[in-house]
Amino acid sequence: MVNQQMHELGANRSCIRDLFEYGRQRSAVVGKENVFDFSLGNPSIPAPAQVNETIRTLLHEMDSVQLHGYTPATGDLGARAAIAEDLNHRYQAGVRPEDLFLGCGAAPELVSVIRALAVPDAEFVAIAPYFPEYKPFVTCTGSTFRVVPADIPDFQIDLSALEAAINAHTQAVIINSPNNPSGSVYRRETLEQLAQLLTRSALRVGHPIYIIADEPYRELVYGDAQVSFLPKLYPDTIVCYSYSKSLSLPGERIGYVYVPEHAHDHDALFAAVCGAARASGHVCAPSLWQKTIARCAHLRPDLNAYEENRRLLWQGLKDMGYETAQPDGAFYLFVKAPNGNSRKFSEMAKELDLLIVPGDDFGCPEYFRLCYCVSKSCIQRSLPLFRKLMEDAKKAR
Ligand code: PLP
Repeated sequence: MVNQQMHELGANRSCIRDLFEYGRQRSAVVGKENVFDFSLGNPSIPAPAQVNETIRTLLHEMDSVQLHGYTPATGDLGARAAIAEDLNHRYQAGVRPEDLFLGCGAAPELVSVIRALAVPDAEFVAIAPYFPEYKPFVTCTGSTFRVVPADIPDFQIDLSALEAAINAHTQAVIINSPNNPSGSVYRRETLEQLAQLLTRSALRVGHPIYIIADEPYRELVYGDAQVSFLPKLYPDTIVCYSYSKSLSLPGERIGYVYVPEHAHDHDALFAAVCGAARASGHVCAPSLWQKTIARCAHLRPDLNAYEENRRLLWQGLKDMGYETAQPDGAFYLFVKAPNGNSRKFSEMAKELDLLIVPGDDFGCPEYFRLCYCVSKSCIQRSLPLFRKLMEDAKKAR
């Protein structure tokens, strides 16, 4: 016998992975250049050169036993100090190295934080559209996953809907800005109002309500958009950060959890995050990557390629009459399906070898997601297909 919940999770693959797999199979048949795969958020720009240089230097300079050995479960102090210094330099945030837990990327860090807060009858709130994995992360703890729709078409937070969803069981609200899949960045005034709302709600229910800030895209912002450092606006914010997207290292698995010194129950919370990670089998984040981050925490991505792709795709689709969320960050466009049904629209696109992700799993079935971390020529050559789909959808009305 196997655990039914785990079996279902393993047997039902995600729609994104299915599309990605389909794209690989189709590429073998029709040629890679003839498949327009906008399905997976795999960074398309290389890691900064200094990352690879640092690894070469470390391999050359350091004693191999020390380099590849276990580190403390919370992480090497050098890496934690470098991250704290970088955050303090950018945000004057008062981050202490001992408030950082080095993890293996945002996904396992989120699991640890959710497990740390999963008291009996706990509820976690997410804003739709949301990263689909939040749902299994929450429900597998036995907690309730409560969804609040975003304020469409702006894709900011619908604050009154959120306030109505909070009750005595609410432990945390999961916030993801820049957002996957909408590409929206929450404005400072939205976040200030969110902080006031949660302060008010915490008083009403008589216990802290945390924000879990899922921030793998913090550095991926365009134009005038700014990403606020949430713990400065609301000290009960637990940050889950990852270098997967910002340094283009998704396969290497490195990031951190930050529990601010002034968060309610700081010591117990930090210990519970460590305990939850332990219960999930965490031993330490990869040692080589911790040492690399110790020297590279200050690096930022060169966003030119994403910025150009974003402009081309967004402008191209807008000119054809597609409605999209304002894509200020990450590398996604969230587009309204012209026929109102993104699943059907995705099927129609698939016939043209155009792979787009329906919005159902993000909690917004009217929209589909495009990852524009692809080549510029993929975007340029896909535009006539999007035009054809729009024309077909208009004819079908
Ligand atoms: N959160 C969001 C919103 C994401 O989009 C992703 C990955 O795509 C993750 C978390 C997980 O990222 P990581 O590779 O750091 O585990």
